[in-house]
Order: sequence, then C-alpha cells, then structure tokens
Amino acid sequence: MQDAHNEEKNLDQLYRDVLFEHYRRPHHKGELAGAEIVTKGNNPVCGDKVTVYGKLDAQGERLEEVGFDGKGCAICIASSSMMTETMRGKTLAEASAASDKFKAMMRNEAAFEVPPEVPDLEALEGVKKFPVRVKCATLAWTTLKNGILAYQAGKTGGETVEACETNTEKE
Ligand code: ZN
Repeated sequence: MQDAHNEEKNLDQLYRDVLFEHYRRPHHKGELAGAEIVTKGNNPVCGDKVTVYGKLDAQGERLEEVGFDGKGCAICIASSSMMTETMRGKTLAEASAASDKFKAMMRNEAAFEVPPEVPDLEALEGVKKFPVRVKCATLAWTTLKNGILAYQAGKTGGETVEACETNTEKE
C-alpha cells in the first residue's frame, strides 16, 4: 500500500531489518484504555495517521504507559513503536524534551544520540537522508508532545497535522 515509497530499500540492511521488525510487530499498539492523553497526528504527505495515548500515574506527572494506534508506512509505525519504548516512565517534562530532541536529531539540528534503553532507535538515523520521510519518523513524537501540551492546558483530544514547511503538495 505504501509501495510508492522506495527509500526503505536504500537503508542499510541491518537498520531495515530493525525497522521492519518494529513495523511487523509494533510495541504497545492498540487503544490504551483509560489514557488521559489521547491525541491524533496526521502526516498528509505520506498518508500516515496515528493516535497516541498516554496513561499517567496518580500524581498526573509521569507517563506510566504510552501506546499508539493507526496506519502508516514502515518508518512511521516503527518510529511510533520506538517512541512508546522511549517515553514510558518519563515525566511529562522529560517526554516533551525527548520529543523536541528527537525532532532536532532527525532534522540534523542536533547530534544523533541513541538512548541506551532503546538501542533500536539507531535504525532511524538513516531516514535523515530522505527529508520527505523525516516527518514519518517524527509524527508520533510530535503528536505525543502536542497531547502533553493539551493535557497541561486542561484540554483533551485535538489533532496534530505535521505541516510541511517547504512545500504544499497534496496526496
Ligand atoms: Zn510515512
């Protein structure tokens, strides 16, 4: 279905295997019942659509569980899966910072660092070579951050659109 995109084929074999393993068996995929944070994200350039869930501890400060659901290309789903692994257990402030950092890394604005608890994240570094696909990788991360901001502002829901700054093509 996402066969129009061939960039995955140009990634290093090892990284491709890691990405496709997450794509085939994504971690924490499916609706997370009782989540305080529920936010949708949409990447119209590729057609990726995700909903990100965050379940908080009793104090409302820490992400006890993070999940996602949706449809997307291999890069989007694999990155969403890794995002849930990265964010689980973080405070809302830490999770917001981790989202910003990941986005900066993918845009080449920060050095690429792999958190020791999620070594698979290294597989996404190769996606930086394909600027159009960077949004596929960052979608779930920015969606979680927007959900956190909405939660902190006392709102729920809302939809994130990964707006394309450099062009406005459709489909
Ligand atoms: Zn995509």
